Parts: sequence; C-alpha cells; structure tokens
Amino acid sequence: MKCEIIVIGDELLIGQVTDTNSGYIARKLNPIGIEIIRTTVVRDREEEIASAVEESMQRAEAVIVTGGLGPTNDDITKKTLCKIFGGKMIFSQATQDNNDALFARLGKEMNTLTRSQAMVPDCCKVLPNVVGTAPGMMFKRDGKMLISLPGVPYELQKLIDDSVLPMFERCATTDKIFHSTRIVTGFTESKLAIYLTEYEASLPSTIKLAYLPKPNLIRLRLTARGNDAEQLYCDMYEATLKMDELLGENIISYEDLTLEEILINHLKDKDYTISTAESCTGGGIASKITSVAGASAVFMGGVVAYDNSVKVNQLGVEEEVINRYGVVSTQVVEQMAKGVVNKFKTDCAIATSGIAGPSGGSKQKPVGTIAIAVYCNGKVQSRLVAIPSANRMRNIERFIDLALYDMVLNLRTIK
Ligand code: ATP
Repeated sequence: MKCEIIVIGDELLIGQVTDTNSGYIARKLNPIGIEIIRTTVVRDREEEIASAVEESMQRAEAVIVTGGLGPTNDDITKKTLCKIFGGKMIFSQATQDNNDALFARLGKEMNTLTRSQAMVPDCCKVLPNVVGTAPGMMFKRDGKMLISLPGVPYELQKLIDDSVLPMFERCATTDKIFHSTRIVTGFTESKLAIYLTEYEASLPSTIKLAYLPKPNLIRLRLTARGNDAEQLYCDMYEATLKMDELLGENIISYEDLTLEEILINHLKDKDYTISTAESCTGGGIASKITSVAGASAVFMGGVVAYDNSVKVNQLGVEEEVINRYGVVSTQVVEQMAKGVVNKFKTDCAIATSGIAGPSGGSKQKPVGTIAIAVYCNGKVQSRLVAIPSANRMRNIERFIDLALYDMVLNLRTIK
C-alpha cells in the first residue's frame, strides 16, 4: 500500500521546530509493508493544506496528516478537512468525556477554547486521543483514507501505536519489507561503493543497497521488498552473509545502532566500566552514553573539566604540562583520562579538550581542533585531530562522535 504524509505547521517551515513526526510514522509503517512515497510540509493556510491533501489523495491510497488540530485560530486543519470531505462540525460527547477525564486527572479547569476540541466533522471516524484534547480523525473517499493526527509528538505517537498501526495491519497488503543494516568503518563512501560494485550488481531485484555515511562510519542498509516472504528471507540471508564475508573486520556493528549503543555493548561484553573527563564537549559524551537504556551497568560518572583549574584540581593535570603543550594537547587529555580513572576507579575513560569556536583558534591549532584520549585497561591512547570549521555546535557534535568512535575502535582491539 502506498501512503503519503503531510506535516502541517508554519514552525516547521521557518526552522523553529524540526519535523520528527514523519520519521516516526515511517519507522512504524514501513515494516508492515506500507510504502511511504512522499512527505510534504505545508504552512497553516487553508488553500495550501487543501491542495496538498488533494494531490496526495491522487497519488496514494492512504494519507496521514499531522498538526494544526489545536483550538487556537492558527490551527485550521480540522475545519479545512471538514470542508474538503463535505461535512459539518458536530459535538462529540465521547471526545468531551475523554477531555473531561484528562482534565480531572491533571486537576485542571477546562476553558471554553478547550471545550471546542469536542467539535468534530460529522464525516469522520473519531480516533480517541487519551493523552491530549485533540482527537485523531479518519476520513474515507473513493476507497482511499485520510487520517488526521495531532502535531504534538507524544500524542501523535500514542495514536499511531494504538489506533493507526492496528488499522493498517488489518488492511490487506501483500508487500513485505524488511531491512538489514551493517555499520562499517575504514572506507570512504565512494571507495566502499567501488569495492561493492560486483556485489551490488549480483543482488536479486528484490534487494536494494543504500549507503548512509557519517564521519568515519557508513551505514549499509539492505532493503528487501516483495510478496513472497519466504523467498525474501532466503534472498536477504544470502545477501547479508555475502556482505559480511566481503567486509569482515570493517563491520563494527551487525545492527543499526548508534555509536553510544555500540560502545555500551562492547563494555558489557568485556565487563568494563567507563568514566569521562570532558572539556570542550561539556558533558555531551556522558549525556550520549546515559541516553542508552542500561548505561548504569557500565557508566560510573564524569567530570566536566572546562576550566583549567578543574583539570588541575579535580583530575590531577599538571600545570606545567598545560603550560608547555597547551590545554588542547594529547599530553593534557592523557592526564585527564588517567585522572578520571583514578577518581572513579573505572577500567576505561574518554577525555576531550578542544577548540569548538567560533574564536580561540591559532595557526597550529585552528578552531575545530580536538585532543582525544581513550584509556583502557592500563593503557592510554591519544590523538590530535583538526577538522577546521567555525560552526560551534557542529564542532561539538563531531568531537563527541570522534571520541566515542575512538573508544569503540580501542575496545575492539582488546581480545
Ligand atoms: P495541539 O492540540 O496541542 O495544539 P496540534 O495538532 O494543533 O496540537 P500543533 O499546534 O501544530 O499541533 O503543534 C503542537 C506542538 O507540536 C508544537 O510545539 C509543534 O511545534 C509540535 N509539532 C507539530 N508538528 C510537528 C512535527 N511534524 N514534528 C515535531 N513537532 C511537531
């Protein structure tokens, strides 16, 4: 089944909010054989919403619309859809009961604007929203369906999981889609594509290969699509086996995981603990590690050693080393790593010191330079990397990824 998504909201088009709803929907619907063929972002304008809906309904059998269901004047999706599908607004007692119960749970008083959320088009099936006041709606026309959902991500997610997915699962769809991902290092994207030319050409027509590069890493995704599930499984099994043989040690993960997830898996496998000593990354590495469920089994803690005095007093970095080599140096980060290991008694540690910018660089150490040390089992390794860029946030993101990457590579070498 082909499906389109329309995300509505001025905030999405002025860059104030990044659309996460379409990704969530696609991740949920794709595995059950629903093919998302297009996502459109439109402003809160009646004529623009109407034309986007009409165009999507031409191309796809199902359309999912998110956003613009609130009670304020800028939320016009409900009225616009009511007009498009030729209905009139009526009071929905079930929606009012749901909203009364929600407000009672929150201990809040409902105002007249929120009461208007119980007005719904008479030409739709209401999809109850138990975590918000704007209900979802399903409209049908010429054998096609349009589902309208609230924009608030957690409300949308609950409705997708509870109402939309079961509905799509019931729809007859013969297509099966599944993916298999490997995370590969040691190649640039073009070098990998050349290396895999023959392999790619040998794949059956039901399997496609996609390259998703990140600094130092490439995600290789095989997607199998067809209606003979058994044959697809066999084709996919052979394709992944062959890819694994070809890439061998260059594969750092056999699943679609983040660097921090891969790191935690390695630490758990080896029964190691880790701590962090961060200057320029400001706790970002610790934050990524603790974002993974189960991090408490391996992560002991960290020191954000932003000022030199903290590096010296908390981590035992020698002032003389800072003065001689500079604070962004392999010598300093090595001392930071050893210092945090002593402090938290961990087996491993990551330490960073760099110049995120936009100012503060020099000819020898431009903005975008970072010193990283990784400590493991009594040994410390470090390097100074310069990727000149004046974009502070981008530099910090890259520094975090580089440091996690170094730690993962280091752990892989330990048998
Ligand atoms: P409400 O009933 O709460 O007003 P709504 O359906 O009217 O919900 P919007 O007013 O469009 O939704 O957006 C509510 C919140 O959800 C806003 O903070 C908005 O930025 C966020 N939001 C809307 N659409 C998206 C999206 N596609 N991705 C991420 N966040 C979104």
